[in-house]
Amino acid sequence: MTTRLRVAPSPTGAMHVGTGRTALFNWLFARHTGGTFIVRIDDTDTARSEKAFEDDILAGLRWLGLDWDEGVGVGGPHGSYRQSDRYGRYEEVAEKLIAEETAYPCFCTPGELETRRAEAEAAGRPPGYDGRCRAIDAVDARHRRNAGERAAVRFKMPRPGTTEFVDLVRGEIRVDHQHVDDFVLLRSDRRPTYHLASTVDDVDYEITHVARGEDLLPSTPRHVQLTLAMGGKEATYAHIPLINGPDGKRLSKRHGAQGVTEYVDAGYLPEALVNYLSLLGWSPSGDASIFPVTESIRLFELTDVQKNPAVFDRAKLDWMNGEYVRALPSDRFNDLAAPYVEQAAGHPLSPEEWSRFEQLSPLIQERAKLLTDIGDQVRFLFVDHDTVVTPETIGIIVSFPEAKPIIENAIERLTSLAEFDHESIETSLRGMLDELGLNARKGLQPLRVAITGSTVSPPLFESMAALGRETVLDRLDAARSRM
Ligand code: GLU
Repeated sequence: MTTRLRVAPSPTGAMHVGTGRTALFNWLFARHTGGTFIVRIDDTDTARSEKAFEDDILAGLRWLGLDWDEGVGVGGPHGSYRQSDRYGRYEEVAEKLIAEETAYPCFCTPGELETRRAEAEAAGRPPGYDGRCRAIDAVDARHRRNAGERAAVRFKMPRPGTTEFVDLVRGEIRVDHQHVDDFVLLRSDRRPTYHLASTVDDVDYEITHVARGEDLLPSTPRHVQLTLAMGGKEATYAHIPLINGPDGKRLSKRHGAQGVTEYVDAGYLPEALVNYLSLLGWSPSGDASIFPVTESIRLFELTDVQKNPAVFDRAKLDWMNGEYVRALPSDRFNDLAAPYVEQAAGHPLSPEEWSRFEQLSPLIQERAKLLTDIGDQVRFLFVDHDTVVTPETIGIIVSFPEAKPIIENAIERLTSLAEFDHESIETSLRGMLDELGLNARKGLQPLRVAITGSTVSPPLFESMAALGRETVLDRLDAARSRM
């Protein structure tokens, strides 16, 4: 049997990291088993679904590198893979089930349902559908519909009965149908419910494994029974634990970025986010936490997904991203950095400016956790002295008691250097520290602020070398004259 897995996002919001994780687990298992990964769009909620959200979701999947073999945008034997294009098919199934008497028309109006639900609640009975229309004779029901009476379609849960299945994550599940009401398949306006559309698609697309969020576990007995009533083959289910924030509450906006696009914009690398998401609820044996996706594919099993909620820890993700940034080949790092560098510079870089960046880039790569950290670190390479030597930076410089002699001494030494390279600059300025009797922190900080405009910068000697003598002396001179 070859495996067929799907991710089925609803385009009612932007691509969420939770959707990314669900997609990833399905994709990993499909790739691990040499099966097929499918992307379906669950857009039956027409009021809330938007094409822009669908585009965002598909772009997010592509950015993460989760390529799909069938589905929206790539095609396959099942049409568009959008539920909104399959209403006819859902009606056909619902009508067939009515004909076979495993489903029935329900004539209850919303008002009647609400009144009886409230009565049941007041009497301490379960609030689900009370089954009133199940008792209507099938022939009578057909006459009423033929006469134009509006009806929803409900599934006839086999009663008495139980649904039993082995969930790959949660183990044996057994649900008595006493606790499952006769749920709606088609609304009276003929729109399908999630249960109908999702199950019909899973059966038609011959999905072998349904791996989805644990919040959908209560729906699964319904989907199993509906599958059997359709004569379909029951899928294997795996309900993946939800993702919590570090405070133990379900991950939400409060915990920071949720959308995959936000991670793109914040300068994360897709391979780092994929590595991080793969560990949200799954861990391969051994304690390595950084491994390439090929390794996850090799090791991934749905049965190794844990039951407990996963905890989204942004600090760990940032650390992991830094590891991936450091591991990039330097020319790839430079390519990825280029847009951030140009944005910081505020203009496209000239070849000479680019070579300034390239001189420093190994040091930037060492230190950056996120690609968005790069701009602030290198801006000083491309701006004029008025941007660096501002009243504010002068304020910081003069807060060092020895600032004036330091700057004067440095100007003198740097002017007379034979070579303006990192080693010569370092030897010369260490000589200055000795001469003035200052430690590096006190003695170099005023120079750093005058040259880079900040108390935090890439290493100072290398930064000076990258800037070039003329610019360094220009800034020191500007600082001296404004102090
Ligand atoms: N469309 C559902 C959602 O976005 C998923 C349905 C499923 O996986 O069965 O939550």
